[in-house]
Amino acid sequence: RNFVVAGMARYLQEKYASASDPAFAALYDTRVQYVDERRRRVLVRASVTGEEKYLSYDLLVGCDGVRSVVREALAKSSNFEMDIGDIFQEFKAVHVEKPPALSASAMSLLPAALPEMTGIALPETGNMVNISMGVPRHRRSKLPAELQSEDIPTVAAYVRKNFRAFDLVDYDDFARQWVGQEWNRTGQVHCSSYHSSPHRIVLMGDAAHATSPSIGMGMNTALRDAHVFYELLVKHGDELDKTLPDFSKERVREGQALTDLAYHLYCFDAKAQLLEVVHIIVRSKLHKMLPRLVEDHPQNMIGRTGVALADVYAQASGLGIIPKHRRINDETRRRYFETSVGMIKDTEGGTSRWLTLGVPIVAISLGLAKYCASI
Ligand SMILES: Cc1cc2nc3c(=O)[nH]c(=O)nc-3n(C[C@H](O)[C@H](O)[C@H](O)COP(=O)(O)OP(=O)(O)OC[C@H]3O[C@@H](n4cnc5c(N)ncnc54)[C@H](O)[C@@H]3O)c2cc1C
Repeated sequence: RNFVVAGMARYLQEKYASASDPAFAALYDTRVQYVDERRRRVLVRASVTGEEKYLSYDLLVGCDGVRSVVREALAKSSNFEMDIGDIFQEFKAVHVEKPPALSASAMSLLPAALPEMTGIALPETGNMVNISMGVPRHRRSKLPAELQSEDIPTVAAYVRKNFRAFDLVDYDDFARQWVGQEWNRTGQVHCSSYHSSPHRIVLMGDAAHATSPSIGMGMNTALRDAHVFYELLVKHGDELDKTLPDFSKERVREGQALTDLAYHLYCFDAKAQLLEVVHIIVRSKLHKMLPRLVEDHPQNMIGRTGVALADVYAQASGLGIIPKHRRINDETRRRYFETSVGMIKDTEGGTSRWLTLGVPIVAISLGLAKYCASI
């Protein structure tokens, strides 16, 4: 993210600021406090001096992230719905030397890489990799004591013994970073529309659809938002009355698909998640052998050129993955809330009945795999 942002800042500096373009002004260390959408102006405050002033706008692009102030202006409209929450996961992220087993150019999924925890590994520059390991909130207290320990040798020894995905280069470094940080949370946003024509506002990126990093597509979708908006401006000759509604028409389905895939391709129930991992492996193999007979697993389709996230969502829904996980995840989350605020008493195994729904899918896949192996 930082590289992309720095690249864009340099581009603006070179193209507009250096050319002393009177229409260009960059205000760093300045935050939007409030959007006065009726008068098409924003109140900004300089962080260092505390000075405040109003800036008028022709078009306000709300790309101000998960806690967007610009989005608040849209929320005043009666036909705008939004839902702001978090991903119900608590995670720690470490930046370690890339183990030889890991791809330097692709995201790796690390299902059940540590007890109770699922992770992702994202390649970084300089032969480094970002490993994020998360646990659903209702299982946090069930984590092995060693993973909650603040003693570096204890964590290092435990990870050395129990990290199942691949060998790490330096377990002490992993443990030092693990102990040196709090458990993180990250937000999730759904919006029913990404624009207001009368107020000349458009939302992009996390302001519109913040999500779990679990499929590694938040930044990609934000960049695609900007690109689609540009394409629509060109198509409509800069006419905002046409561009803004068309933007929502094209992008809301992608943003909603992004957030729901990142959340519901995974399951908060550990056993159902394990079955899903088996499903991924079996379906991927069968699809390779019989591409016309067996559809690919949605996880393999993410990020493929020409495949929209809405297409992946349709596939995941059609295969029953999203409906099944949505039921379990929503139920798990609801029960956690009800028990944590004392509405109901805690009982174990509240979601296990949903597991039965997953078994037939995997059983069919396994049966088909055996059949294919025998021919
Ligand atoms: C652990 C992790 C791993 C991830 N990995 C990936 C990945 O592999 N691939 C991927 O595609 N995505 C990934 N993402 C998601 C990605 O980081 C985000 O989707 C992306 O940064 C969103 O960009 P954005 O510009 O919309 O929002 P942000 O990056 O949040 O930027 C918003 C900007 O607005 C500024 N701002 C906020 N409020 C105000 C205000 N009131 N006034 C002025 N400025 C304001 C902020 O300071 C910030 O600079 C990951 C996210 C996490 C947490």
